[in-house]
Amino acid sequence: DLKGRKAVITGSTSGIGLAFAEGLAKMGVDITLNGFGDQGEIEDNRARIAGETGVDVRYDGADMTKPQEIRDLIKGAEAAHGRVDILVNNAGIQKVAPIDEYDDEVWDRIIAINLTSNYHTIKAALPGMKERKFGRIVNIASAHGLVASPFKSAYNAAKHGVVGLTKTVALEAAEFGVTCNAICPGFTLTPLLEAQMADNAKARGITEEEAKAKLLNDAHATKEFVTYDNLVGMLAYLCSDAGSGATGYPYAVDAGWTAH
Ligand code: NAD
Repeated sequence: DLKGRKAVITGSTSGIGLAFAEGLAKMGVDITLNGFGDQGEIEDNRARIAGETGVDVRYDGADMTKPQEIRDLIKGAEAAHGRVDILVNNAGIQKVAPIDEYDDEVWDRIIAINLTSNYHTIKAALPGMKERKFGRIVNIASAHGLVASPFKSAYNAAKHGVVGLTKTVALEAAEFGVTCNAICPGFTLTPLLEAQMADNAKARGITEEEAKAKLLNDAHATKEFVTYDNLVGMLAYLCSDAGSGATGYPYAVDAGWTAH
């Protein structure tokens, strides 16, 4: 029942966001891609997804640290596709370092991209959703929106903030046919995680292979990474008509991590 819906997915030029774009496009959803990267590669992905699925796929390079660009991203999607039914706040960055050595600018940047951008996209997209009495807002938090790990002060703070924002928006939008939920993924092998593994190994004085093994062993009850399919399935449910009764909740897809 997602066919014909219109989605904006922030940070969808890589990793989980790109998998979300591919997954929703396969279900017949028109897509606005967003994110940084090599322009040729982005265009290749855009054309490939459109070609494989037959939906309209457009790209907007809005920077999630810039409120005006975020407002223009939503306006542009509404103009091109007529409306935004599904908003997926997925753009995110990570920096692993002890708090007493943490870089102030990195702190501000992580809060801006991982938390404040969600406020700006929601503020821009919600009025239209309420007017049309349909909307699905899905914020990609993290298991780190529910529990913490050391050396991730800014990330943990931002992701816990996303969960709080999610609950508030859910309450404000509930009577307008608009749901707002968070997905809290466990570790998923994406470019972001690969980079983090290197930093993590350095902070702990171990090799990257040791860091990966330790990560799965300590965190994931399954001892497996979370897959893109695991996350796309949850997103599809939350965006579906069946998802209308589910709002205001941080859904863990974390291989059993937060059950510990
Ligand atoms: P990724 O690095 O592969 O992708 C991040 C995306 O965000 C890219 O498209 C990038 O271009 C975009 N982005 C970064 N800064 C931006 C900015 N200023 N403006 C616009 N776009 C920007 O990372 P990923 O692992 O796929 O992460 C996606 C989301 O999932 C993030 O919010 C991350 O915190 C969350 N998450 C990831 C994991 C994991 O294990 N990979 C676990 C839990 C949560």
